[in-house]
Amino acid sequence: METIAYNLPQSHIPLAWYNIVPDLPSPPAPPLHPGTLQPLTPGDLAPLFPMALIAQEASQEREIEIPGEVRQIYAQWRPSPLMRARRLEKALDTPARIYYKYEGASPAGSHKLNTAVAQAWYNKQEGVTHLSTETGAGQWGSALSMACAFLGLQCKVFMVRVSYDQKPYRRALMEAFGASVTASPSPLTDAGRGILAEHPDSKGSLGIAISEAVEVAAKDPNTKYALGSVLNHVLLHQTVIGLEAIEQMAMAGDDPDVVIGCTGGGSNFAGLALPYLGRKLKGKSHARVVAVEPNACPSLTKGRFTYDFGDTVHLTPLVKMHTLGSTFVPPGFHAGGLRYHGMAPLVSHVINLGLAEAVTAQQLDAFAAGVQFARAEGIIPAPESNHAVSEAIRQALEAKAEGKSRTILFNLSGHGHFDMQSYIDYHAGKLQNYDYPEEEIAMALAGLPVVG
Ligand SMILES: *Cc1c(COP(=O)(O)O)cnc(C)c1O
Repeated sequence: METIAYNLPQSHIPLAWYNIVPDLPSPPAPPLHPGTLQPLTPGDLAPLFPMALIAQEASQEREIEIPGEVRQIYAQWRPSPLMRARRLEKALDTPARIYYKYEGASPAGSHKLNTAVAQAWYNKQEGVTHLSTETGAGQWGSALSMACAFLGLQCKVFMVRVSYDQKPYRRALMEAFGASVTASPSPLTDAGRGILAEHPDSKGSLGIAISEAVEVAAKDPNTKYALGSVLNHVLLHQTVIGLEAIEQMAMAGDDPDVVIGCTGGGSNFAGLALPYLGRKLKGKSHARVVAVEPNACPSLTKGRFTYDFGDTVHLTPLVKMHTLGSTFVPPGFHAGGLRYHGMAPLVSHVINLGLAEAVTAQQLDAFAAGVQFARAEGIIPAPESNHAVSEAIRQALEAKAEGKSRTILFNLSGHGHFDMQSYIDYHAGKLQNYDYPEEEIAMALAGLPVVG
């Protein structure tokens, strides 16, 4: 029989997360205090994050031990499946071998639970009782709500207005886990009130929701803030994906020629790719590493690599990243998790160093790929993950055209069971492609902060 699943026992959950920073040829630029423009000190972040996560944010250690209780919770869905997409290969009639790491097998339905559990755990250790956060598509809010329920914390979620209205089931899921969910912009914060005064019908954005969640944490000593992507410690927690995949690909007796992930803030891509890049830097892997972003929100391919704010109202530190400008509000395409103006500084840095490359996908191509994948493999991908699927299929067809084999590994970051409305719209012909929103981005870039 042909093998399709490369499953590892629970004992193979990694013991440590992998931090690529000490292995890089040059270090990433430090985050800056928005007032003084000096590098941040740990104390600057203390109102928002527990000290253990602040230490991870700036860590030079290659390996950071995963706490036993976090590994125990991981054991419910990790090691996650690594599958060979044999029926998809046959459907494409390609000589390429296609593998995917399936993070939708987590109870929250995406990779985000990997960091949600870790973040909730470290907050709990330091006596924090409440976490505030934002959510776009709802996956991060679901994951953090679940993690807070596991660890006995209260969770307050600011949900981007357009998703709040479009995705009542995501909201219901978070509320079932005990979280309180507010549509953003909201009248609960200065940031939200300010936006509503100017734009009473605002559909919201991740940048606005981040401002609200940060403000709540900054004003309440019992509340800390949790971010679902972008930051170094978030990417670090996601490296369990790549560490497991390396072992599973060895079980398959195969080695990827290309490693692919979709990028919103960069965490699922980094989770799979950074452990491979670490091997590549040691000469143990030859894989090309490819990030796939939506054409309508192309921070890596069209953004500027410079210091910018992480949020719309400018409460966060300045980080050096590929950005479209913090006031850019992307068009309403159906991959909410990819509608962010910036990119993880660490992902931006490895792209800038030439260690990884970035490509874009159009919405209709992404959905066509997702449907083709679903028919072959039986899993409905999240609209975000469809971007990675489309690049994997494109690569498999390119290999076919060249008449050569190619080993493709991509991250299937989540399932789309709460996103079926987008598939309904796709099949009804209601989805469209979006051009690169050149003018809006030029305007947002004109407002970039000036850093000497
Ligand atoms: C949030 C999300 C993304 C985008 O976020 P990254 O930090 O870039 O991974 C992609 N896929 C899924 C399923 C998500 O939930």
